[in-house]
Amino acid sequence: MPSALPRKPEPELLGERALGAYLGLALGDALGATVEFLTPREIRQQFSRQGGLHKDITGGGWLHLKPGQVTDDTTMSLALGEAILASAGQVEALASAQAFDAWMRAKPVDIGNTVRRNLVHFRRTGIPEAPESEHDAGNGAIMRALPVALATLGQEEAQVAAAFRTQAHVTHNNPLSDAGGICLTLMIQDAILGAPWTGLKARARALVTQFPEYAWENTRPQENPSGYVVHTLQAVFQAFFATDSFESCLIDVVNRGGDADTTGAILGALAGAWYGHAHIPPRWLKALDKTAATRCRDQALSLLAGSPAGR
Ligand SMILES: [Mg+2]
Repeated sequence: MPSALPRKPEPELLGERALGAYLGLALGDALGATVEFLTPREIRQQFSRQGGLHKDITGGGWLHLKPGQVTDDTTMSLALGEAILASAGQVEALASAQAFDAWMRAKPVDIGNTVRRNLVHFRRTGIPEAPESEHDAGNGAIMRALPVALATLGQEEAQVAAAFRTQAHVTHNNPLSDAGGICLTLMIQDAILGAPWTGLKARARALVTQFPEYAWENTRPQENPSGYVVHTLQAVFQAFFATDSFESCLIDVVNRGGDADTTGAILGALAGAWYGHAHIPPRWLKALDKTAATRCRDQALSLLAGSPAGR
């Protein structure tokens, strides 16, 4: 089991891991966006000169991104984080909905269908909670788990779960999304607080006990993962638990193709929290969009400083 940093939660380690998580989110997003919607076979063909693997931050992809540019996974997380900071560290439904609405008005490079539909619902009704829907089991709410994990670090699990649901339900009101997102939020917190590898694995296994469709061990590799929250977390868990470095787990997950920017962003946050900022490849940090990198760094430290564990 990989252990890049001491697991004891010294204050400076909390900052190191919070920075790793937020930069990891942006890096996974930027890395994965290049191969979003490609199949693993198409990636192997397109990157045959790099040994069949996509492993550098080069932009492009179906969104024609600049090298290092991030997408909705990062910018929606940043919008949520700003709303939390403006609400004195609290995750509030109306403030979250207004932040997402402002984000949508600013014409983001990418937006998910469920996010758009339920933000339009908010505009029409003023109600910052989407109607419950069994169909809204996309990964668009769990990709915003990180600011919640940082703001509520050190709180009781029930409070963490409630905070996750509050922001999630603005766009995704669905039990599978809730369970997956709460599990992910708590795993990111475990990693930042220095829990052992076995502790993170136990969390992911408990999710499977609750919702067996999430099974990720002893199942076929989740290749070409869709935007379905179950496929997303299966790919993320398989890559995270099968590798022993930040770099290798992200290369694993994005080369599965499919919704690669979001699997990359989610795994980047989790792995960045586990391995810490110091273990992120410098070539990736150098390639990341400078404005996004600065916002991620500032927000990681501000959210941590406002949390019970960081005060
Ligand atoms: Mg995206």
